[in-house]
Amino acid sequence: MIIRRLPSHLVDRIAAGEVVERPASVVKELVENSLDAGARHIEIRLAGDPAAASGWSRIQVVDDGCGMAPADMRLAIERHATSKLPGEDLLAISSFGFRGEALPAIASVSRFTLESRRSGLGNPDSRGGWRLLLDAGEILFDGPAGMAPGTRITVDDLFGRVPARAKFLKSARTEAGAVADIVRRLAMAHPHVAFRLSRDGRLLLDVAAEPGEGISALARRVEALLPAGADTAPVDFRRDDLIVGGLAGLPAASRATSEQQYLFVNGRPVRDRLLVGALRGAYAERLAPGRHPLAALFLTLPGEEVDVNVHPAKTEVRFRDPARVRGSLIAAVRQALDSAGIRPVAAASAALAKAFSPAPADWPAFAQQIPPVPGAAPDAATPTVCEPALLWAAPAGRAPDAPLLAMPGPAPATAGDFPLGVARGQVANAFILAETADALVLVDQHAAHERLLLEAMRGRAGDTALPAQPLLIPEVVPLDRISCDRLEAAAPLLAGLGLEVERFGPDAMLVRAVPAVLGRPDVVALLGDLADELGEGEGPQALTSRLDSVAATIACHGSVRAGRALSLAEMNALLRQMEAVPASGTCNHGRPTFIRLGKADLERLFGRR
Ligand code: ADP
Ligand code: MG
Repeated sequence: MIIRRLPSHLVDRIAAGEVVERPASVVKELVENSLDAGARHIEIRLAGDPAAASGWSRIQVVDDGCGMAPADMRLAIERHATSKLPGEDLLAISSFGFRGEALPAIASVSRFTLESRRSGLGNPDSRGGWRLLLDAGEILFDGPAGMAPGTRITVDDLFGRVPARAKFLKSARTEAGAVADIVRRLAMAHPHVAFRLSRDGRLLLDVAAEPGEGISALARRVEALLPAGADTAPVDFRRDDLIVGGLAGLPAASRATSEQQYLFVNGRPVRDRLLVGALRGAYAERLAPGRHPLAALFLTLPGEEVDVNVHPAKTEVRFRDPARVRGSLIAAVRQALDSAGIRPVAAASAALAKAFSPAPADWPAFAQQIPPVPGAAPDAATPTVCEPALLWAAPAGRAPDAPLLAMPGPAPATAGDFPLGVARGQVANAFILAETADALVLVDQHAAHERLLLEAMRGRAGDTALPAQPLLIPEVVPLDRISCDRLEAAAPLLAGLGLEVERFGPDAMLVRAVPAVLGRPDVVALLGDLADELGEGEGPQALTSRLDSVAATIACHGSVRAGRALSLAEMNALLRQMEAVPASGTCNHGRPTFIRLGKADLERLFGRR
């Protein structure tokens, strides 16, 4: 057996396996170097070429930090060369880097261009820039290059020569997402530095340097980088020499994944298991299972209390007293959530929208079990379609459905008997609020009525004519000649729907009767819209589909428009009709006509689940 030292390029590649996993880890190392170099502006540019082996053709990081002299540049690409370890104490490290292996590791698995120019007037090295070009760790070019003070590092064809690693890369879009995530984390911890990230020239992230003092600048930066409108409570906690600050998302701002959890230890982004577990503990009983808190928390503790050197990418840390850290984080978050108290929740509307469930798929099944309701039951002997329409057309309070109207008490036993419940009131003269045994139902009255009318017309127009309501005095509607021609030609079709029109001179139509379902429509507007609709459908078209679009136009005119006050009786009649017509779950335009908020949804909204 012969023991040999590994050649240095292999050592670099092995190190690269630990430090350089994917584009995001390259960006992390390079941006951390820029931060260590005191940069005020850091720009990250990605250029994704799906044809490249890795899906990535270029990663570039440009900074305006202190820069390097040519001799230092040559050193920087050697293993274990670092400018950041003044003493022997590995625990007292304040810079990001110190292992001195990132640049050689990245250079060993890519085509690598390092360009730098020292900053500072009077600095002898600051006059011109210098460039080093390496391919798989070999120096190809070493010479002057014009550039502004700072450092520009370009990584081309990452893993192009290491197909085994390239295999593990995800799509260019996923990798770009991971880059954005790490840049966001670094930007949160450095509010005084401007960050800009673009992909193929498109900006993914752009934050200007925050002016002002520590905590407030930090808070502004974090807020700028959290999802817009997220409700948070400020965290401000201190126990001896351990400080926890930042923002804790209120339960209403919870997420489906843990992606929006930003944890920092002494200014360093970490993904430490202990801290993630403590965060989960802090929200226990406050979040539904499967929901994850949103939080940006900054832990500050003395350097000797934490070892950041346990993980090559430095995302895991080791605490000297884990129990104390865990306890403090939980106490800090709970205190913040408790003091947030009751206040309007901006994110609630989003949560609400999610909690609302659309019409159940088994609608026809429960439409069958609906108990008959006087005045609303489908009955072959009477033109029932007309009745509710007339009912709605009647002035509020004069509805013939007196028993329902006179119903005393807040919660009649019938609440549980109807799928859509019992009407309790109206919101904004447009939405009906109904209560079932275990749910709150909101109905869009206009959309629902429109749909019911259309279904009624569809059901009848084919065979028998819809009942017509003759007008006491036929109405003359002046219209342009083309519209009159169209309506005249369609008169037989319209008559089938209960609308009786005839030509009245060259520029007018006479309306003798309107569909009874419509109540008292605005005939001028109705004929205008119908003429337009008929014009649109001109040409050879199946009678049925023409009928349908004409019926939809008529239905729109008869519906209980948003903005009309309804009596409870009118509302209940509408609910019962909806239950009897399975298709009424969506309006003519495909939108839901009602939404239902079950007990579980309500509990979730209030953070009880
Ligand atoms: P480490 O950061 O652990 O020291 P690196 O391999 O990342 O190791 O970098 C090696 C050295 O190169 C650094 O110590 C630093 O002196 C120099 N360096 C790297 N990037 C930059 C930069 N953007 N600006 C100035 N100096 C840099
Ligand atoms: Mg480094």
